[in-house]
This record gives sequence, structure tokens and C-alpha cells, in this order.
Amino acid sequence: MIEIDKSITGKTKLIGLIGNPVEHSISPQLHNTISRHLGREMTYVPFRVEKDDLKDAVKGLKALNFTGFNVTVPFKKEVMKYIDENSKEALLMGAVNTVKNIRGKLYGYNTDGEGFSRAFKEATGTAFRDKKIALLGAGGAARAIAVKLSLEGADSIAVINRTVSRAEDLCELVNNNIRRVAKPYGWDDDTAESVFADSDIIINATSLGMHPDVENYPYVKPIKFRKDQIVYDIIYNPARTRFLQEAERHGCVAVNGLGMLFYQGIYAYEIWTGIKLKEDFLKELFLEFSGLLGVRQKAKLSSKS
Ligand code: NDP
Repeated sequence: MIEIDKSITGKTKLIGLIGNPVEHSISPQLHNTISRHLGREMTYVPFRVEKDDLKDAVKGLKALNFTGFNVTVPFKKEVMKYIDENSKEALLMGAVNTVKNIRGKLYGYNTDGEGFSRAFKEATGTAFRDKKIALLGAGGAARAIAVKLSLEGADSIAVINRTVSRAEDLCELVNNNIRRVAKPYGWDDDTAESVFADSDIIINATSLGMHPDVENYPYVKPIKFRKDQIVYDIIYNPARTRFLQEAERHGCVAVNGLGMLFYQGIYAYEIWTGIKLKEDFLKELFLEFSGLLGVRQKAKLSSKS
């Protein structure tokens, strides 16, 4: 007997992903699993787009009445000029990774900062208000994180980066547009050591230590962690970078970036649908999601237990 496939009908709502490449993305599995779980007729499809075709691709998604779409590398910045209204956070972060189509008008968001914030709080039970924070890196991810940290009341943010001019630019952006809390440091700046010692939270937002370069470390020498410091590495492959291993050896709460990846997707789903997903479901989904990537965070989202 032939079973009729009813998973896509004339009423199915569509969500896209545009980027190049997109073949590695696990976003289709994540979003389609949520839609199936909620019984929503919504399907997520990835599209590899060539550089010169970005404008046409965005126009096409709009013309085809897509509910929304994600944007990934290398288009997160360039896509902003084809969006009707970018959120304040996306403008500060200088990138859009989530777009919602409301009656033919495109709204741009950046969910990386919110993904980081939700994952961090979920895993550590700690918020950023009044905290002294050392942030390694000044690239795209660091920018989203620095903006979020300053919006959420951090006491100070020390941005430590190999290219000091990028750290300076990021601090200027934060200080001039949000709050005067950011200070730049160079990679081999001697005073950076005392910054680490004074920090409540240390975040790696560089790509150093990422697979396959797992021996790499995001600073010129090993940082002397204190056991009451919280250490977050936005890298999730490998699950325990050298940086996180070192932090764990000193007794710190040490968390990888898998939660950030997960929650930036969850936040995007919430933007498209207006649905706030239940905590129990999210916890279960996160475990399945980490299995899919072959990356296990210790003890659910948290590394505390
Ligand atoms: P960018 O290329 O924008 O920034 C890279 C950062 O790493 C810069 O600060 C750069 O310093 C630094 N860096 C790179 N190579 C070196 C090196 N050899 N020595 C010193 N510093 C170096 O990348 P992104 O910000 O987009 O991503 C950074 C990392 O975060 C990646 O590993 C990415 O996979 C991960 N990520 C994780 C996410 C998650 O959801 N968990 C989300 C987004 C990113 P400089 O300015 O001097 O070049």
C-alpha cells in the first residue's frame, strides 16, 4: 500500500536559509523538528546562494511569500541593505542572521547575542549585570556578544584582541552607542593579565582552539584562572577546547558554545512564529541536538554538575 505524504501541502509556510556553503547546516533539522513537534505546517529549506545573486535571492524569498529566513556566512552584513527595517540590536551588531516577512515588508534581527545570553544564563545561573568581563576577540561573534553584554548591564568589558585596532573599534562602538564600559587591549599587552585576574567572567570569542586546530589557545600564554570565575568558549567543536580544559583544571564553571548555537536558532523560531517554546521541550531538544552534532555538553546545558 502506498502512503500519501502529507508533510507539505498548499498551506505549508516556508522558512529559508541563505548562505554559502549551507550543506553543513543543521538548522533544517532543528527547525523542522520543532515544527513537527508543535504540529505546525511549516518547513525550513536551505539554499546555497552565489555572491552576485544575494539581492535576487532576497527578492525571490519575498515574492514567494516566505514567512522568514536565516542568513549565514558570508551574507550577514551585506543582506542588511536589502532589508526594509533592521532592529536596533542588529544595527549595533552590524549583521543580520534572521529575517521576518510581514505582509511583504522584511524585518532584520540578529539572534547571536540573545542566543549567547540565554545559553550563558541557562548554563551558569548568572546574569551580566554589574559583572567585570574579559572578552577575547573582536570579530563578528565578539561584536554581537559585546553589544549584548553592555545592553544587559555589564560593569566593564575588556576587549582583548590580536589586532588591537579591531578591539578599539569595537570598544568605540559600545562606548559611543550603548554605555561607556568597554576598554581595548592588545594580544601581548602586559596589563591584560591583571584584567583576567579582576574578571568575574572570561569569554573566548576567537576561533582559536576550534577543530582541527585543537592545540591552539586564545591568548599568548595560559591564563591564571581563579575557581570562582565563569569561563565560556563560544567554540563547540571540540566540546572541551584547551581553553576550557585549563579553566576546568582550575575549578571554574566552564561552558562551551553549543548552547549559543542552539538558542540563536530557538530565538529565530520564536521571532518567526511568536511562540515561546516550553523549557522542558527545549531541554530535551538540546540533548538530541548535541547528539546530532556529536558534541555533548556535560550535564545538559550546564557544566556545573
Ligand atoms: P571572525 O573571523 O569575525 O573573528 C575571528 C576572531 O578570532 C578575531 O578576533 C581574530 O582576531 C581572532 N583570531 C583568528 N585567528 C587568530 C590567530 N591566529 N591569533 C589570534 N587571534 C585570532 O569570526 P567570528 O567572530 O564569526 O567567529 C569566531 C569563532 O566563534 C569561530 O570559531 C566560530 O565558529 C565561533 N562562533 C560560534 C557561534 C556559536 O553559536 N557558538 C556563533 C558564531 C561564531 P583578529 O581581529 O586579530 O583577526
